[in-house]
Amino acid sequence: MNRKKQILEILKERGEITVKSLSKIFNVSEMTIYRDVRQLEKEGEIKRKHGSIVLNLEGNEDGKVVKRCPICEKPITRSHPYKLTVENTKTIEACCDHCGLLLHKKYEDQEVSALTYDFITENPVSVLEAYFVVGSDAKPCCSPSVIPFSDRSMAEKFVKGFGGKLLNFVEAYNEIINRSSLNIQSCCAPEQNVSFNLGKLKKD
Ligand SMILES: [Zn+2]
Ligand SMILES: [Zn+2]
Repeated sequence: MNRKKQILEILKERGEITVKSLSKIFNVSEMTIYRDVRQLEKEGEIKRKHGSIVLNLEGNEDGKVVKRCPICEKPITRSHPYKLTVENTKTIEACCDHCGLLLHKKYEDQEVSALTYDFITENPVSVLEAYFVVGSDAKPCCSPSVIPFSDRSMAEKFVKGFGGKLLNFVEAYNEIINRSSLNIQSCCAPEQNVSFNLGKLKKD
């Protein structure tokens, strides 16, 4: 488990803690902890309160409510997250398509439909018609990443640039379930550096 994740675990247990105490716990400088804290703050996970840090339960800086992914508990930051509708009534959102696929496992006994959004255009596409690139070098959220496309040729281009396997919904589902059946926590571990260059794709 990385340090940021451990800090969140500690906060879940204790409610609040100071940077100083954290630096003692991890035996690193306060500067190092500050860096983690600033990142966690940006991600909407925590906020500062009277010199301590606490979990951000109600909202981010804009006062918007932070929805969390029911699989990995990360805040849902995508403007169009994966959407699963259960029995035509309840809609559940996941942080990314990786967790979206895992959600299907959770509701496998119920009637569900799901919608995802093309990675480039953000147009909605039914998961049964989508093309998924699994396990590429692009890791915008959980790993192994699952990147959805509505257009097959775009997905193929993406594989050329970033690797991974081009799969349909059922194949992608099986792939993710197999890869993560042992340990959901580790499969959802956030990557350290999530940025990558889409320019590579467009030049092609
Ligand atoms: Zn998730
Ligand atoms: Zn995710």
